[in-house]
Amino acid sequence: MPLKTNLPEKKTWLPVPINSDFPIQNIPFGVFLTRDDIITIGSRIGDYAIDLGALHQLGYFKDIPLTDDIFLQDTLNDFISDGKKTWRLVRNRISEIFDINNNDLKNNEEHKNIVLFTMDEIEMQLPVQIGDYTDFYSSKEHATNVGKMFRDPANALLPNWLHIPVGYHGRSSSIVPSGTSVRRPMGQTLPAGAEQPIFGPSKLVDFELEMAFITTDANVLGEPIPVEEAENYIFGMVLFNDWSARDIQKWEYVPLGPFLAKNFASSISPWIVTLDALEPFRVASPAQTPTPLPYLQQTGKKGFDINLEVSIKPEGNKATTVTRSNFKYMYWTMAQQLAHHTINGCKVNSGDMMGSGTISGPTPDTYGSMLELTWRGEKPLTLEDGSTRKFIEDNDTVTITGYCQKDNVRIGFGEVTTKLLPVFQQKKK
Ligand code: MN
Repeated sequence: MPLKTNLPEKKTWLPVPINSDFPIQNIPFGVFLTRDDIITIGSRIGDYAIDLGALHQLGYFKDIPLTDDIFLQDTLNDFISDGKKTWRLVRNRISEIFDINNNDLKNNEEHKNIVLFTMDEIEMQLPVQIGDYTDFYSSKEHATNVGKMFRDPANALLPNWLHIPVGYHGRSSSIVPSGTSVRRPMGQTLPAGAEQPIFGPSKLVDFELEMAFITTDANVLGEPIPVEEAENYIFGMVLFNDWSARDIQKWEYVPLGPFLAKNFASSISPWIVTLDALEPFRVASPAQTPTPLPYLQQTGKKGFDINLEVSIKPEGNKATTVTRSNFKYMYWTMAQQLAHHTINGCKVNSGDMMGSGTISGPTPDTYGSMLELTWRGEKPLTLEDGSTRKFIEDNDTVTITGYCQKDNVRIGFGEVTTKLLPVFQQKKK
């Protein structure tokens, strides 16, 4: 099926601001609360949210095999379960409805009033009920930087790293959408030179610049997904800030890996951009030496050229961009991650989320965490208001943005923006 929706010359009858992340070539999927407090599945063009539940009830999807209530739900899980063929049919149909040469909805004021919302009339929700969340560690530059800081600069990568897309199972209960504030966590840390741990607020709260992909039901228990088929089971991608407490992490992570340093909060952008929309932005992923084992060997372009930025905004001040990275730096691809995740027969479900791991590039201005940008706090960053940061301070707002650009088409993800609140204080009785 041709991806007509991606044609660069395609235009819509809806107004789209210049440099919008959401031209008619994007057609992402999300979940929102309408002005009437109704929850619905939707899409977005420019600064308009489109109520897909209403469009379906009005008959605009009538020759696509969909259940009546598929969009009248508070998560995308069932729609994602319908599979890639259905996602494509629906995305192509939305593109047709809003094509500049299609008058059906354009000239129907009554329907437009039901279907369209401006962004300030709605509230974005978590797009999926995330059953399982896995986080990888797939940027070679990031793994090397961390290895240099915490282990041995001469042997920064652990012996398994070039052979395995290293990952761990995270926790989905604390994943929140953009706009939801998170709290500085309390926890155990071992101060430098001390022999006994102390308890208190984490002093080293950090962001991790990541992206995450959302899967559909991919396999039955016991059966792996071959690497060459893996992308068929990826619905789309979001921006992902995997909040981390470095001091808690350092004390707790031996021998089983990250735990409370990571599961206090992770934030995602609310619109899932489909892999179909990202198709024009494929690039070769970094060459892999040594050659991976056969089950991880892939052909073709499996990387994606996605520009990523992080800014920090102190309360009452302007935001300062602190890093510019790119998803194309990922050493292990999403296809390899999913093939590896299931090679033992592990089952993957609709709405599962897999984080890329912190995405650092080759130069210090492309590093994906404060840990690396300030090199463990040794080189503080100066923000535009003159203040300095080693890590994230209370009431700072951290924002990740991301977009692809080619042939005058820009496909973006919007943003994931999160304020870090001070530690929780027990109310005095
Ligand atoms: Mn992470």
